[in-house]
Amino acid sequence: MTDELRVKFWGVRGSYPTPGAGTVKYGGNTACVEIRAGERTIILDAGTGIIPLGRELTRGHALEVVLLLSHLHHDHTQGFPFFVPAYMPNARLHIFGPGGTPETLSRVLEHNQSSETFPVSLRDMASSKEIQSVRESQVVVWGGAGVHVTDSGEGLGNDNDALVIRIHKSYAHPGGVYVYRITWRGKSVVYATDTEGYVGMDHRLVQFAKDADLLIHDAQYSEEHYRGQLAGFPSTQGYGHSTVAMACEVAAACEAGQLVLFHHDPAYTDALVTGMEAAARAKFSDAQAAYEGLEMAFSLNPSPLHAGQSSAASRASEMGKGVRGYERDVKYAHND
Ligand SMILES: [Zn+2]
Ligand SMILES: [Zn+2]
Repeated sequence: MTDELRVKFWGVRGSYPTPGAGTVKYGGNTACVEIRAGERTIILDAGTGIIPLGRELTRGHALEVVLLLSHLHHDHTQGFPFFVPAYMPNARLHIFGPGGTPETLSRVLEHNQSSETFPVSLRDMASSKEIQSVRESQVVVWGGAGVHVTDSGEGLGNDNDALVIRIHKSYAHPGGVYVYRITWRGKSVVYATDTEGYVGMDHRLVQFAKDADLLIHDAQYSEEHYRGQLAGFPSTQGYGHSTVAMACEVAAACEAGQLVLFHHDPAYTDALVTGMEAAARAKFSDAQAAYEGLEMAFSLNPSPLHAGQSSAASRASEMGKGVRGYERDVKYAHND
């Protein structure tokens, strides 16, 4: 059994892809992050970064992945028609995202591949696909019995090896956006892209992201750009994206282990993003700017399945902070 939760960034750019000499260091593909939990693969968003990820995944055998869409803006879906596993008959995709009814998500994805706009329809992609709009109160669980959606985490049972995916609906982006918290054996990653900070902080997000080992947070704009003080650029206040300071404020308040700045502005050069990274580190020491190919690994606690029959309290003291983290997240999952 693997003892790490792994995170890899495949697309870190917001709005539109930006190839070219000025974006070589951080990369030009739009949003896509891969999370590996043992044999299980979770993909956050389907920007163009999902295209090289798809090629990588086809090197494996039978494929089963969970794809979580934060929202349905182009930079989070435009790579999907080119996601090779979606064309493979032995691949199984569970796709979740926002939408007013359970069918909203499939309707939008079908529309993205209507005959007028793309040569292959969604249903002609040979993989098996379960596409479902989910609600904030629902919890996606990937355990020994497969992938299923539960209401408020009920049915988690004793599957301590299950991946638990919780949802926070943010209104700080046009049309709203889902923030996801992925937890496996005591480690948590929170993916908060396309969100703008509030005056006095986004307290709901802070609560949702509390004690995450990794917070991936939108930091599209420099302070000057946001305020309209960058020559040639209008103020972007209200556009639904954050500054470095907003991302750091949330990371500090939720006591995240690490912060990754995400959704870089397409107009920003590598030098500008490097400057923003430095600004972030002055506010939150364990911060870095996402770049294509960035990989992070989080060591897991010994599996609770193998932790013997000791009480929860003694397990916590035996195994340290991480196990407390595990219990914290399971508790959190039951408290919604
Ligand atoms: Zn975006
Ligand atoms: Zn967006």
